[in-house]
Amino acid sequence: MTEFAGLELAQPLLRAISDEGYTTPTPIQAKSIPPLLNGRDLLGVAQTGTGKTAAFTLPLLQHLTNDGSKLQDRKPRALILAPTRELAGQIADSVRTYSRHMGLRSTVVFGGVSARPQIKAMAKGVHVLVATPGRLLDLMNQGHIRLDAVEVYILDEADRMLDMGFIRDVKKITAAVPKRRQTALFSATMPKSVQGLADGLLEDPVRVEVAPTATTAEKVEQRVLFVAKDKKRALLGELMSDEDISKVLIFTRTKHGANRVAKHLDQIGVEADAIHGNKSQGARERALKGFRAGRIRALVATDIAARGIDVEGVTHVINFDLPNEPESYVHRIGRTARAGAGGIAISFCDHEERAYLADIEKTIRQSVPVQEDHPYHLAQIVSHIGAGPGADKRPSKARRRPNRRRPQRSTARAA
Ligand code: AMP
Repeated sequence: MTEFAGLELAQPLLRAISDEGYTTPTPIQAKSIPPLLNGRDLLGVAQTGTGKTAAFTLPLLQHLTNDGSKLQDRKPRALILAPTRELAGQIADSVRTYSRHMGLRSTVVFGGVSARPQIKAMAKGVHVLVATPGRLLDLMNQGHIRLDAVEVYILDEADRMLDMGFIRDVKKITAAVPKRRQTALFSATMPKSVQGLADGLLEDPVRVEVAPTATTAEKVEQRVLFVAKDKKRALLGELMSDEDISKVLIFTRTKHGANRVAKHLDQIGVEADAIHGNKSQGARERALKGFRAGRIRALVATDIAARGIDVEGVTHVINFDLPNEPESYVHRIGRTARAGAGGIAISFCDHEERAYLADIEKTIRQSVPVQEDHPYHLAQIVSHIGAGPGADKRPSKARRRPNRRRPQRSTARAA
């Protein structure tokens, strides 16, 4: 995994990042920061909670330090547009946090509060302006803000911006920003309307996309069970005696593994079927239909076969094998938290998989609570877990603490 130190960020930014306690860039940061530092335009498909704010703020601040041009009254050098006051306020907090060792000035303007302090701040001149569209246009119309010195232009949560009816305002604001500039647009979803807006704004953009990590993971109750590889089937049988596990999607790494697990479940009296690439289209459809209708209690799948499957009311996801890609983990457990409903994700972790678990925990920025009260608990994994790559800085005691997320504003933002 990339470290921040490998991203060619300036020292004052690295210091601010380290003050915050971040060691590893999140996926959206690792993918967005290099092209943005190279001056490219960017289209980012990412939700709140993925670390997208730092993904666009850090390169923007670096750009401002590299460029010696003077600060002018009323003329920000970077503009970040956000749809709501809350989001604008949070972005402004982040800008302040990451620029604290740089001596840059920033401010935020939004409606619903007195414009006077905002006008005063603009009169002194700021490097970075964070704004909601309505108030920004008002202040522009009154001559308090001019956008002709903007070099970096960011639109955050573009989909929400359009949903809230800001399209005309955004167009007017964009028309006031110089054509020669760097632009990035972030959106959680990419409907045609947002794509259309992006097409008009961005020049030859790099497109980056990440799974909705933290927000998905938050809704799902997760636990991990340490178990020896050859005891996984017995453990699964044990779990299936719980009738609450009524509609369960089970993931295995291989097609053979999926077959073996489905067969074992059949043998112990659990209605099960497997879907994977070696099965005919007809067989896959039959299995899915049975699962949807509730005739099949357990559907065993590989990641590829499960892609695009959307079944309502999945009560549990069981990771019989842990995936080696943390993003697959997030996709898998997301199957049980559809439409805002919570679900339960249970992961088996054997000795060889503990490094995967460490990577997953880094990505979702939570430690997954360990469930020990089962007959196959493998205590020695707990004491070995610090040995996995990426687990080096985490004390093993912390692993039993649920939701060890980075605190701050993240929960408020996910709401
Ligand atoms: P965002 O998606 O920008 O709203 O960020 C979500 C949360 O993740 C914020 O509370 C950030 O402080 C935090 N965060 C951002 N980047 C990192 C990182 N690299 N490591 C740990 N936490 C981070």
